[in-house]
Amino acid sequence: MKFVLASSNVGKIKEFKDAFKNDEILSLKDVGFDEEIEETGKTFYENAKIKALAVHNFLKKHGKEYSVIADDSGLCVNALGGEPGVYSARYGGDHNKDAAIQKLLKNLEDKADRSAYYECCLVQINPNGSEISAVGRVDGHILKEERGTAGFMYDALFYVDELKKTYGQATIEEKNRTSHRGRAIQALKEKNMK
Ligand code: IMP
Repeated sequence: MKFVLASSNVGKIKEFKDAFKNDEILSLKDVGFDEEIEETGKTFYENAKIKALAVHNFLKKHGKEYSVIADDSGLCVNALGGEPGVYSARYGGDHNKDAAIQKLLKNLEDKADRSAYYECCLVQINPNGSEISAVGRVDGHILKEERGTAGFMYDALFYVDELKKTYGQATIEEKNRTSHRGRAIQALKEKNMK
């Protein structure tokens, strides 16, 4: 099958290519899509669907018969009612990692419960308009200080319960095997094989 991945993130494209080895994964650039998509959804599913639909409609207009996969993900902290959630990238200003980390630590200062999870939602829209979606999640805790330098954004603060270390300390293989995105990709793959 030929998929277009609704992302221009090189790391994500590689992760999908590794998972869908027998399929052809195209990037947005490969199909000439360069529109800005506004993520106005209140849930990961809504945002993934907005992205998938925008690319699906573009492909249809240009007569291209490819399926589209879009993702949306973020960090949800239980004591903060699921924050930052869909605002994960903008929690400390647009993609400002240090400000986001500071804000998260401050908001958790007086909280005993530091449990959190990363969630990823994938939405696939096929050329005939049919839809498949999948969710992946990894549970952990927000530490009081960063550990390790791998990963990005909240990774060095996020202690992964099953790895007993943060994603900042994990190898890329450990992260892909346990992560919200890795799990959502596997779940979507299984649904495609049915
Ligand atoms: P997106 O799904 O790539 O748009 O990611 C949204 C935001 O969620 C990112 O900018 C990060 O703030 C956060 N996020 C999602 N997945 C991860 C992860 O694996 N590590 C760290 N932060 C993540």
